Amino acid sequence: MVGTFTRILAGFSLGFRHRIALRRLFDTTPPETTILTLDPEVLRSSGIQALALDFDGVLAGHGFPAPLPEAVAWMKRCEAVFGGDKVFILSNKPTEGRKSWFAEQFPDLRFISGVRKKPYPDGLDKTAELAGVPVSSILMVDDRLLTGCLAALLAGARPCYIRNPYASFQHRPVAELFFRLLRMGERLFVRVITLNLS
Ligand SMILES: [Mg+2]
Repeated sequence: MVGTFTRILAGFSLGFRHRIALRRLFDTTPPETTILTLDPEVLRSSGIQALALDFDGVLAGHGFPAPLPEAVAWMKRCEAVFGGDKVFILSNKPTEGRKSWFAEQFPDLRFISGVRKKPYPDGLDKTAELAGVPVSSILMVDDRLLTGCLAALLAGARPCYIRNPYASFQHRPVAELFFRLLRMGERLFVRVITLNLS
């Protein structure tokens, strides 16, 4: 609990330091952006060599044990383009249920664990090490500006902001409401601290 609180505070203070890059990322990301708007071939030809994927909001709504079917299909395309050993899950919630689902469906994919959670850049450094690619060639795909996207900026990786995340209010109404408010809050924060720039 204390760790979570410290991490959220770190998100705001590190986010303030990187406010210009966060604002630029927000302004240049189309509102409809989901993983399905990302073409793995296009990413590959733009120099991306490995993917670090957040789970909640990016591959399914909060708390699901497995990605949505359309996310699975997209990940299969990524696996074909990048190689399964270049696709990673970098989630602050790497549950056992998720790990065993991926072990079945994507045996080469790895979960990043044993590192400080996002927004700290440690998970992306570890991704680079395991993938054997420069950190600058890793795309961090995340629906949160002040966790995953910020971690990417801190590590020198490329952030991809999922502005239109998956959510299932039917499945987890309280968690989804909480995260919707959190996403709105961080967007507002980034806007307010960059008001003098716009
Ligand atoms: Mg997320």
